[in-house]
Amino acid sequence: MNALERINELKEILNQASYEYYVLDQPTIEDYEYDRYMEELIRLENEHPDLKTADSPTNKIGGEVLTKFEKVVHTSKMMSLSDAFSFDELKEFDARVKKEAPTATYCCELKIDGLSVALRYENGVLTLGATRGNGEIGENITNNVKTIKSIPLSLKGNETLEVRGEIFMPKKSFHALNEERALNEEELFANCRNAAAGSIRQLDSKIAAKRNLDAFLYYLLDDTSSTQKDALEAMRKLGFKVNTLYRHCQTMEDVFSYINEMAEVRPTLPYDIDGIVIKVNEKNLYSIIGETVKYPKWAIAYKFPPEEVKTKLLNITFQVGRSGVITPVANFKPVFVQGSLISKATLHNEDYILAKDIHINDTVLIRKAGDVIPEVVRPIQEDRTADAVPFQMIEVCPCCHTKLVRKPGEADYFCMNPDCSEKQVNRLIHFASKPAYNIDSLGDKLVLQLFEAGFLKTIADVFKLKDHYEELITLPGLGVKSIDHLLEAIEGSKKNNLNQLLFGLGIKHCGAKISTLICKNFKTMDRIMNATYEELANINDIGEAIAYELTEFMKQEENRDLIEELKGADLTMEYQMAEIHENYFTNKKCVLTGTLDSMGRSEAKKIIEGFGGSLSESVSAKTDILILGANPGSKYDKAKKLGIYIMEEQEFLSKIKE
Ligand code: NAD
Repeated sequence: MNALERINELKEILNQASYEYYVLDQPTIEDYEYDRYMEELIRLENEHPDLKTADSPTNKIGGEVLTKFEKVVHTSKMMSLSDAFSFDELKEFDARVKKEAPTATYCCELKIDGLSVALRYENGVLTLGATRGNGEIGENITNNVKTIKSIPLSLKGNETLEVRGEIFMPKKSFHALNEERALNEEELFANCRNAAAGSIRQLDSKIAAKRNLDAFLYYLLDDTSSTQKDALEAMRKLGFKVNTLYRHCQTMEDVFSYINEMAEVRPTLPYDIDGIVIKVNEKNLYSIIGETVKYPKWAIAYKFPPEEVKTKLLNITFQVGRSGVITPVANFKPVFVQGSLISKATLHNEDYILAKDIHINDTVLIRKAGDVIPEVVRPIQEDRTADAVPFQMIEVCPCCHTKLVRKPGEADYFCMNPDCSEKQVNRLIHFASKPAYNIDSLGDKLVLQLFEAGFLKTIADVFKLKDHYEELITLPGLGVKSIDHLLEAIEGSKKNNLNQLLFGLGIKHCGAKISTLICKNFKTMDRIMNATYEELANINDIGEAIAYELTEFMKQEENRDLIEELKGADLTMEYQMAEIHENYFTNKKCVLTGTLDSMGRSEAKKIIEGFGGSLSESVSAKTDILILGANPGSKYDKAKKLGIYIMEEQEFLSKIKE
């Protein structure tokens, strides 16, 4: 392939990747792969300047501007940053800077992995929030920006100014969002950056509001501060959230120590960073050092290498999901990746393993995708030994040995046996889980214990547990108190809304969101049971696959019998429109210890949840309030130790009424 052909190929790869990354917020290649292609294109264009065209990705900032948003013309270009992947490249950057400005020192900041935003204030009031877009034209995202709590809607003074910075999604919110998406069988976000970008570019700002985004500001336009360090402080004084981990470095040695320190701190930060930005501190030197069409020459981004760790793939085992889906799992020699010890990662399905050519006994590279989910990157082919065993998909269910089925057009194999015990346990676990029927204290371990002891087989059995009281209290690790607690929670759960029940049934493609949508349209379980394929498929957002799976589920006799049993157990079979009343408990994490005079635990939980708060089982540093009942347990001591706010029953009652 000659240089022109390779340049054209690289342009095509990079343009496609940019589209997926910036427009769809669903990248298909890793950032470091993208950066490698970009580096190669820069090198080839430098070697063959006559082949460089104006539309080359090396000249472009960001992606296209989405037409669904109003366009915003930036007051001055929002630039990107050039990259460095090694300390040697940083030394070259330093040499270039010092050639123009020998007295330069550096202000080093964390490179927040989010997306850039410009905020305009007029007479102290936030009037505009815009994405970077292509650097010159961005998207108007003011309504969504206003949902970010750390962005002031008005300033202390009545300044007219523009600040720029980074909107990001904290790791905790990213984690929770992906968990919810997994439960809803929605595509997961690859990392915090894509989740933030996908959330801020929602037309419905209510969705953006729920995503718990945050923002750090790092650039104040038309600022009179003489250094970047002073500018950061000036922004802080104006009321903006500024990341305080920046450092003024006199020499490159100081820069390197800062980078090394921050690389260590990185896993403990509540937000994701993908590098360090090194900026010349003295602003009067910027015009001397200059800029290219794409980035300033007085700053550079040092990108952390992705942490990939080698280990040996010991085995591939198989899990049976609640729908019977078989998931191959890589079991490898435990390794530390970004601060945690991991030994397993999903391998998704047969096609995925074959495409990556993974053999058992291979040395494999492991990393955490989006810093959270363990992933097998690839096997190291050069290290493959004679004992490597090619992957062979199993033909029968690892649990019940029924022959597996791969439906046409699907990558997954399924166990179709309704009595498969792993399937049954996972179905029960899903039913009782928080996002589904949310039965307090019926956690995974207890489900398994009750299943193995023969008390639980189907969802209907959950509501028959009360008939086995005497036997249950004698089970190992359980007793009167915990069984009373469990049965109370089960009784209380019967008032749960219909969408929770529908989601809890674990019907393929019927995630939490879809279940709610179906309930809103059909109102009662009877009408859902009798809904036709056409009626379902006609609802906006309900595709053919959902309509098919739901009608198939409802056709089966054992499922109809199950629902009849649940009706007999007095579960709510009508949908009530949920109304959240905001008050003191909104978004608060509460824990209750002891007993309340005025109400039972389930009622307290319902009330708190009705205000958009939560009531969980155990105290942790994340707990906001401990509600103190009579005869409190060890939760009280723990909460006191952690300095958590303790609320007595009287105060609880008066706060409810507020
Ligand atoms: P960039 O992310 O490499 O760096 C520039 C950006 O850093 C700035 O625009 C700003 O938003 C941000 N930033 C964060 N903290 C900052 C701080 N303290 N000071 C100044 N800026 C700060 O550049 P980019 O143009 O936004 O994106 C290009 C990168 O995106 C590529 O290098 C690649 O890693 C990734 N990308 C990946 C794909 C893919 O398919 N995986 C596709 C396109 C781009």
